[in-house]
Amino acid sequence: MICPKCQSSNVNTQIINEVTLKTAHHSIIWWLLIGWWWVPVKWIFFTVPALIFKLFGHKKQRAVNRQKTMCVCQQCGYSWRIR
Ligand SMILES: [Zn+2]
Repeated sequence: MICPKCQSSNVNTQIINEVTLKTAHHSIIWWLLIGWWWVPVKWIFFTVPALIFKLFGHKKQRAVNRQKTMCVCQQCGYSWRIR
């Protein structure tokens, strides 16, 4: 591994574990195409069933584990991400 900033090979790699909630965020495209009509429809048709589901402990959100690899240059301190 070579630092893209100073071309040094003195680079540390580390794996970072990132936990995100899958339903926590939607993209702007999603909101433009689906969100503006889907959310009110969902509210009308699914709020009551969802409340019943909540009573039985049904969980809508799911935790997603994502691992990303970060490189840190020991020479200049520059850090970047590899996929
Ligand atoms: Zn560097």
